[in-house]
Amino acid sequence: MTDSTPSPDETDGRTGTQSAPADAPPVHRIETTVDWPPGHAACYLVDADEPVLVDAGAPEDRGAEELREGLDAHGFEPADIAHVLVTHPHTDHDGQVSNLIDAGDPTVYAPAAAVERLERDPDDLHEVVTENARVVGVPEGLREYVVSQAVESLKRNARYCPPEAVDVRLAAGDAFEAGGVTFESIHCPGHQADQFAFAATLGPEADGTDTDGATGDAGERVLFSADAVIEPFRAAALHAGLDDGTFDSVSASYRCYGSLRSYSFDRVYPGHGPVFTDYAGAIERSIESLDDLLDDVESTLAEVGPAPAFEVANTRADIAEEPYVLFETIGACAELVERGRATDRMDDGVRVFSD
Ligand SMILES: [Zn+2]
Repeated sequence: MTDSTPSPDETDGRTGTQSAPADAPPVHRIETTVDWPPGHAACYLVDADEPVLVDAGAPEDRGAEELREGLDAHGFEPADIAHVLVTHPHTDHDGQVSNLIDAGDPTVYAPAAAVERLERDPDDLHEVVTENARVVGVPEGLREYVVSQAVESLKRNARYCPPEAVDVRLAAGDAFEAGGVTFESIHCPGHQADQFAFAATLGPEADGTDTDGATGDAGERVLFSADAVIEPFRAAALHAGLDDGTFDSVSASYRCYGSLRSYSFDRVYPGHGPVFTDYAGAIERSIESLDDLLDDVESTLAEVGPAPAFEVANTRADIAEEPYVLFETIGACAELVERGRATDRMDDGVRVFSD
């Protein structure tokens, strides 16, 4: 199907006369296993007139099986899903898009910029990442490995969420209807450059542990926050990896939380960790975590500088074990310069930072 907008006479009768908030559809949480903390990725089934799935779980057979079981627990099967909303092109969120298309041909929605990223020519990506790897100071012996990781990741995501299968390319701020529910896209860069969170008015979580009933059945303002706002931790600022924008990971994260501060939500359905209600608190904690990151990178820079971002990162952690530290450190070095807390210069094609 290509058009998601239901006409007013297409309701199935369940909702009766229009008192929309009181009949706001409930949400079911489905977890699929991932091999890194916190061990799961959550997607959400909105039990609307036409079932909507926000994100599509982890990839491969294990993810497929767990998604099938999760849907089955609520009386659905993959072929029933009419709409799939993809928050961002990471495999633990788009892992089953392709399988859902095979099962039931849902309408697929994704951020337009994410789709363009998936359409990217791998050779072009290879070239940009090779150059950026040099600029951030990845040693020559490691460079080809790092570059191939980036290219493989692009190819993997394009397989799980084929760009040509995305029916609706969303722009930031778009309001759109899926399954009779109006969603609003909110651009949340930093963790991933193109990431969207989706806001909506929905009923209370049907089966979660966190049904405090604060707003009863009257409908709540909820946010499907993807990896932007999570409790009790902050998802890493990976942003663009070593692609264009590699130095923006931390500034984009601050920008994201700054703009999210202007919203308020009754309940948050995150991509990882528990469903929670203290939206404002989670944002402030995330900003504090970024502040801590800057402090840590600043003191490392005082220790090892002048140094390229790779060396600073490698001092902070074993990058082979925790590759995200590289992307956060690159962004933090640039942000420290932006704030006047560090300086930088180009030295033979490498960006070198000093405290
Ligand atoms: Zn992610």
